[in-house]
Amino acid sequence: MAILAGSTVLYFTPALPIVPAASLIAAAGIGGLLPDLDHKTSTVSNKLQFSTNTRKKLKGLSVLSLGMGILWFVLQQPMPWLWAAAGLIFALASRLRMLLLSGLGLLLLAGYELYSLHWLTLLAGVALLVMPFVKHRGIIHSPEFAGALSLGVVSFTSTQPVLFQALGFGLMTGWWSHLVGDAVTVEGIRSVLLPRLKVALNLLRNGGAAERWIARSCWLCSIALWLMTFY
Ligand SMILES: [Zn+2]
Repeated sequence: MAILAGSTVLYFTPALPIVPAASLIAAAGIGGLLPDLDHKTSTVSNKLQFSTNTRKKLKGLSVLSLGMGILWFVLQQPMPWLWAAAGLIFALASRLRMLLLSGLGLLLLAGYELYSLHWLTLLAGVALLVMPFVKHRGIIHSPEFAGALSLGVVSFTSTQPVLFQALGFGLMTGWWSHLVGDAVTVEGIRSVLLPRLKVALNLLRNGGAAERWIARSCWLCSIALWLMTFY
């Protein structure tokens, strides 16, 4: 859906050179995945962490190492802290997604503070920092956040070269199309300021056969649009 939305935008954008055009489509695809960073095991989150099985093993190893550390300490064996350090590394590795998201968030906040970057850096930094701790389809999936993000992206890219504008526009097209896609499911999406304001059209269930057919049709329509755009 995100690719199709990006392709539609491209079709109506007059004569964009090939590199910004391709970047717009790619950014739309990425933007279509990003909102689900707030889900522990979404497609995009799974790119940032080990498999469920490995995470379980890492947690086990972490507890085991800490236990060994305590044992070493009690038995007055040399360097019990080595076990504790190993335990900490295993624990962090099992929470790699949290580490990466919050770490990148802190980096953006530092950049905003130290180099007085655009306020989009502040917004993205805070969002990434809280991402591992917020509810799925909560604030990150709210139209308010999408609106603020869109404002930030437009305000930031408006002074940048056309490639950046294409990237920003693609990203936001993908993001909004994701929200539209979620709004037609049972769970829907809701406003964060007015939680009663909820859109759940209940037209589609996640992971059904209908979803696969929609995905295929979206690809077909996208390819048709590319042909119409470039020929
Ligand atoms: Zn979603």
